[in-house]
Amino acid sequence: MIPAAFDYHRPQGIEDAIAILQKHGDDARVIAGGHSLIPMMKLRMAEVPNLVDLQDIESLKGITIQNGRVNIGAMVTQHELITNEGLAAAAPIMREAALQIADPQVRYMGTIGGNVANGDPGNDMPGLMQCLDATFTLFGPDGARGVKARDFYEGAYMTERDDEEIMTAIHFDASTAGYAYEKQKRKIGDYATAAAAVMLTKDGQTCSSAAIALTNLSDTPIWSQGAGAALIGTDCGPAAIKAAVAAGLDDIDPSEDNRGPIAFKYHAARMMISRAIASAWARA
Ligand SMILES: Cc1cc2nc3c(=O)[nH]c(=O)nc-3n(C[C@H](O)[C@H](O)[C@H](O)COP(=O)(O)OP(=O)(O)OC[C@H]3O[C@@H](n4cnc5c(N)ncnc54)[C@H](O)[C@@H]3O)c2cc1C
Repeated sequence: MIPAAFDYHRPQGIEDAIAILQKHGDDARVIAGGHSLIPMMKLRMAEVPNLVDLQDIESLKGITIQNGRVNIGAMVTQHELITNEGLAAAAPIMREAALQIADPQVRYMGTIGGNVANGDPGNDMPGLMQCLDATFTLFGPDGARGVKARDFYEGAYMTERDDEEIMTAIHFDASTAGYAYEKQKRKIGDYATAAAAVMLTKDGQTCSSAAIALTNLSDTPIWSQGAGAALIGTDCGPAAIKAAVAAGLDDIDPSEDNRGPIAFKYHAARMMISRAIASAWARA
């Protein structure tokens, strides 16, 4: 459980960090909270000759909410997501989901940037970001570009981010519409067996918009356009929920692992989607 030797770099600015990544190519990787990367290095599943620590880069920190838009620096910790009152008022689903990640020790260190950039299908924030239709800012040698969370994930640990790019921030519209993040896990502190994020709006007794995304049910997070569409124009009653669940299950491709066989994953997905819709509707 001891990682291979590595050189440690601690740049003070984003350009310095990019320069180190450019210099060392495949032999360098950034480290944020270290709570995904360090375990991989200890297990020798990742060998990183040059670790580029982002913790001194001030421009990657902080949460701002301006003109209805939420901007979260990549180095904001999951603990900060929970304790920031402005964020809880502007997008309460963030606190609800962050509270279900791991345990307080992990949340003190783990960052939102590390959680979404890693490409781990078990992480909770990627599906949530797809539900919120978030945009990620990536900064590299050619400057900054924005990528939609819904376009970012290509496969397990494979994303649209180039090796020499650093994720600097996450942006999405503030929303206090009906929301819910429902997660089934084996025990406190565990990754999801299945989880569902739902955001929806209500016009009278009719659902006027809905977005649904799913965690750990495929090798990427799944934004299920069909599941959301099945709710729009309905009263979110049992028939509409059944249709949305069916559409969501059509979009997933779970595998058997130590969290259960495939049939159980479908069962857990069905439960999480229907619970999240019912809860979001009740809050809308
Ligand atoms: C016991 C345990 C339980 C956990 N349970 C859960 C859980 O239930 N749900 C959940 O979502 N997560 C869980 N995690 C993971 C945890 O949330 C991680 O901290 C998080 O996924 C990664 O964030 P980090 O800041 O620690 O990233 P790091 O470990 O530092 O980095 C992870 C990867 O992302 C890259 N990276 C980091 N920041 C950036 C950036 N700004 N730009 C580009 N690339 C970047 C790194 O190079 C690395 O490849 C758990 C972890 C542990 C140890």
